[in-house]
Amino acid sequence: MTTPQPLSIKTSDPTGILIRWSSGETTRFSAQRLRGLCPCARCVNELTGVRMHDPKSVPAQLQQTGARLVGNYGLAVAFSDGHDTGIYSFRYLLDHPEQPEAAGTAQAP
Ligand SMILES: [Zn+2]
Repeated sequence: MTTPQPLSIKTSDPTGILIRWSSGETTRFSAQRLRGLCPCARCVNELTGVRMHDPKSVPAQLQQTGARLVGNYGLAVAFSDGHDTGIYSFRYLLDHPEQPEAAGTAQAP
């Protein structure tokens, strides 16, 4: 099975990115969630795979400021906090679909 390719990437909404895949699926990723998933070497230790950046520290109002294709395997996303070093492979994006807010982690305030 080959990894689906994005047919279109919509970045007109700064709060998220909408991707239409060759599989027919359409997925939306909020900028906040994408930032929390950032796989770059500043966010994840390359040797240990331990995430050094706390997704909970991402402000809810964080915006994406652009996305561009990298080769034919990934998407580079820039954020309003100035972070733009993450390259999200299509496989990684497909493996991390947007989760419903606070699913399974609901806690009393
Ligand atoms: Zn990063």
